[in-house]
Amino acid sequence: MTDARTPLVCVRGMRKTYRSGEGTLEVLRGVDFDLAAGEFVSIVGQSGSGKSTLLHLMGLLDVADAGSIELDGVRVDGLSAARRDRLRNTAIGMVFQSYHLLPELDALENVLAPLMVRHGVWEWLRARRRARDTARALLDRFGLGGRLRHKPRQLSGGEMQRVAIARALVTRPRVLLADEPTGNLDEATGGGILQTLGELNRADGLSIVLVTHDPTVARRADRIVRLAAGRVDDAPSPADLAARRWAG
Ligand code: ADP
Ligand code: MG
Repeated sequence: MTDARTPLVCVRGMRKTYRSGEGTLEVLRGVDFDLAAGEFVSIVGQSGSGKSTLLHLMGLLDVADAGSIELDGVRVDGLSAARRDRLRNTAIGMVFQSYHLLPELDALENVLAPLMVRHGVWEWLRARRRARDTARALLDRFGLGGRLRHKPRQLSGGEMQRVAIARALVTRPRVLLADEPTGNLDEATGGGILQTLGELNRADGLSIVLVTHDPTVARRADRIVRLAAGRVDDAPSPADLAARRWAG
């Protein structure tokens, strides 16, 4: 059941241990995390603290050892690989530090790719005109209307990341998960990407989880949670701090 108070994303007791030749590495030791619909939250933590691991689990790219993930009040961990793929293609958008664009496709084709893989050939022939319009409109919005036929290697880092954001949004996801999206960009270009994310949150109500090791980047969100020693601490919000001061 969902109601207004059901978090959009609800993570409980998430555990993940990596096993390798030398032994085991307990990266997540019972993480609890909620994202309300329309929220923009940063998860901040040192390099190696498990931020990417957590984001990949929320993006259903990997499977935890224990714990649950609910999306809109529905359990989504433990689904078959096919159902996870379908959810990733409809409900979840992801953006990565190194963009992960397909090098042989141009900007427009990269953005269309998530829609193309949904359809069989005949269906795609019918759907593609509208899909192209949607993809073009997104690229236009991000200032890339003049770069539709550019391959990734012909684009700057900031342009590649904006193509990646357009690709993440073309499926109209419920939540955008961004893993160090400004990590390969200079400060000004990264600032532009963060501004775009802020606008998507404020103007479109897009729910966003941004993970970063950089506290300055993290502060662009409405709320910051800290990942350390395999667990999440909710940092007090400015409102909480003010309330504490009132309480003396
Ligand atoms: P962060 O994104 O916060 O830098 P990660 O989630 O990428 O951290 O990694 C957390 C820890 O888990 C690191 O010490 C990393 O080396 C280790 N790790 C990540 N992925 C794997 C894997 N597939 N196998 C083994 N160890 C891994
Ligand atoms: Mg990482």
